[in-house]
Amino acid sequence: MSSRELLLQDVEDARAKENVLWIYVLAGLVIIIVGVTLASHAETNWIGLSSRPYLQTGAVLAILGVVTAIAAGYVAAVYREKKTKFMAQLKELIPLCPSCGKEVSFELKLCPYCGEKLVHPKKKK
Ligand SMILES: [Zn+2]
Repeated sequence: MSSRELLLQDVEDARAKENVLWIYVLAGLVIIIVGVTLASHAETNWIGLSSRPYLQTGAVLAILGVVTAIAAGYVAAVYREKKTKFMAQLKELIPLCPSCGKEVSFELKLCPYCGEKLVHPKKKK
């Protein structure tokens, strides 16, 4: 596999992981909402039963949600940075015409824009 294909794979990998982590952030936010709803439910407990379990469960859920959202958000940001780095490396691998600076293909011997003779570095296997 060429280094270009490997980099493409790295970009895809980082993108996929980042997307999964954003789902965890969303799940964390949902847990916060459920927890807060449960805790506030405790205040309006009209039956007169002890509302402590509601408050405790709600608070625990809310804290869990906050921790999940922050942790997942942080790791997602790390993968986003990795993805940006891989994409920058990928860009460097795209050959440019030495004369006009336009993007050219490895297969071409002449620049299709200005006709300059192209000398490509050997493809890595
Ligand atoms: Zn050119």
